[in-house]
Amino acid sequence: MVDLENLRTIAKETISREDVKYFIGWREGTYGFSVSPHFVREPAEADKLIFSPLCSNNLATYLTLAEKLPVPRGQEPDTRKVALMVKGCDSRAVVQLLVERGIEREQVVVIGCPCQGVIDTKKVEQLLGQPENVVRARWEKGKIICQLPDGEKEFIKEEVLAQKCLKCRYPNPVIYDILFGEKVEPWCQEEDFQEVKEIEGLTLQERWDYWQEKFSSCIRCYSCRNVCPLCYCEDCILDRLNPTWINRSVNISENTAFQLSRAFHLAGRCIECGECERVCPVNIPLMKLNKKLSKAVKEMFDFEPGLDPEAKPLQASYRPDDKEDFIL
Ligand code: SF4
Ligand code: SF4
Ligand code: SF4
Repeated sequence: MVDLENLRTIAKETISREDVKYFIGWREGTYGFSVSPHFVREPAEADKLIFSPLCSNNLATYLTLAEKLPVPRGQEPDTRKVALMVKGCDSRAVVQLLVERGIEREQVVVIGCPCQGVIDTKKVEQLLGQPENVVRARWEKGKIICQLPDGEKEFIKEEVLAQKCLKCRYPNPVIYDILFGEKVEPWCQEEDFQEVKEIEGLTLQERWDYWQEKFSSCIRCYSCRNVCPLCYCEDCILDRLNPTWINRSVNISENTAFQLSRAFHLAGRCIECGECERVCPVNIPLMKLNKKLSKAVKEMFDFEPGLDPEAKPLQASYRPDDKEDFIL
């Protein structure tokens, strides 16, 4: 059972600190959305905070999004800390941002939330056989209880959890200043990369056909880029016109260039929060691409991003004993 009173007390105490400018958590959504990010600037606003199986959004995205807004002329930047609620996977984004110096440790107060998994609302709809608005949800003794417009419905966790959660190895935050709730027992010890292996088992032509079919439906809305906590360049190559690295035309060639460039830019950096895939309006299985690169990075460099704040960024470091002969 999630102790919301305790969460709201933590938030009120945190936002009352002189060195904290705002507290980012989740609240119930509006206009048919189940959940929204919630920026708490006053203690009274903390009463809307929630933590439930609907809290999918990785809020670490806001650490770089909000902080890179231009400061109006004549004003000084507000250098106080941002307090941020994180689940296990989200906390890995914070660690990776620290590794890349995208943020500094003293800029953030991490509120760690041990997590029992978030639901994939598409799975709920499939089980119900119709589109359904999940208004609220809660974890209860290994089950997930969803509140629907016409009453409550109980689901076995494994039936409705997001794919990433079924194989989650880090449900507890890997970094935090304040822990909200009790740590949970991880239910998965090792990544088996099963989905990647299935694609690797196809011939080259079959793999190409598979991805061409998927990429052909991309509408280049850039939701996957915008939601990603590690896609935070102020000057993204996708937006550049001179030189134009990737044309803005929506066609299979440019879509493929976009998808592969983005995947390579995330190699050794993607912390597998699954947000890109969750928000894709045309259901492109982006996590398969991300996982393929995670597998390569693990096998080649024995590296997993977002775990050690003292680690060197993979793509910005080398080892003299690297087995490749281009290292002299
Ligand atoms: S991947 Fe793990 S930490 Fe992230 S939402 Fe799922 S269970 Fe929670
Ligand atoms: S979210 Fe989906 S449709 Fe939009 S740009 Fe990304 S892959 Fe393409
Ligand atoms: S690429 Fe996708 S899974 Fe990886 S960090 Fe970004 S949003 Fe999360």
